[in-house]
Amino acid sequence: MKFLIFGPPGSGKGTYSSEIEDKIDVEHIATGDMFREAVKKDTELGNKVEEYLDKGELVPDELVNEVVREKLKEIGMEGFILDGYPRTVEQAKFLEELVDIDALILLDVTDDIIIERLSSRRICKECGEVFNKLFNPPEEEGICDECGGELYQRKDDKPEVIKDRIETYEERSEPVISYFEDKIPFVVNKCREANAPIDGMVNNIIEGLEEKGLV
Ligand code: ADP
Ligand code: ZN
Repeated sequence: MKFLIFGPPGSGKGTYSSEIEDKIDVEHIATGDMFREAVKKDTELGNKVEEYLDKGELVPDELVNEVVREKLKEIGMEGFILDGYPRTVEQAKFLEELVDIDALILLDVTDDIIIERLSSRRICKECGEVFNKLFNPPEEEGICDECGGELYQRKDDKPEVIKDRIETYEERSEPVISYFEDKIPFVVNKCREANAPIDGMVNNIIEGLEEKGLV
């Protein structure tokens, strides 16, 4: 199956996808994670994208498209959940040419929840695991449960950048929803609590996929 998971920053795309990946046979592909990894490893790609990431701006379409094309080729164009892509209508059109998508999982979250979640989000420097100081804290403060790595706050999770990211989402990414609306099935997952239990959300999504006969 080939799924997109779509929603504003902080809607839980990454958190839910890494759980969904363990429950159904799909590989979680997150463009944001791929870019952060490239920055950490100081690769050519990393150098190209670092400035955009820090400012919370979108990486140019051509660059993202190429990275996704390579990745999908590598996994044989099958069995994935794409997180953070497509983020513009141009990217959506590119993806459509590349492969047929089976469904879009839409995370419907309000702005106040996004702001609350993003400002308390912490990431592991070593393995990229995501925690939240308020809603999903590590057992030991500042330390990753998975690997013992040090936790940090993403530069784009600072309050002054969060506002810009929400605006960019509304202007550039929301149109992607209308673009796919009449083309592929949607599974909509509504969240109205910043600390909604992750398990419950993941189960809702899987049930939604089952109801539509997709898994
Ligand atoms: P979030 O969903 O929390 O905003 P991501 O980890 O998905 O964060 O993305 C982080 C950053 O990586 C974005 O702000 C942007 O700079 C870059 N990025 C990721 N995916 C894309 C994409 N499809 N198009 C353009 N830029 C992207
Ligand atoms: Zn870790």
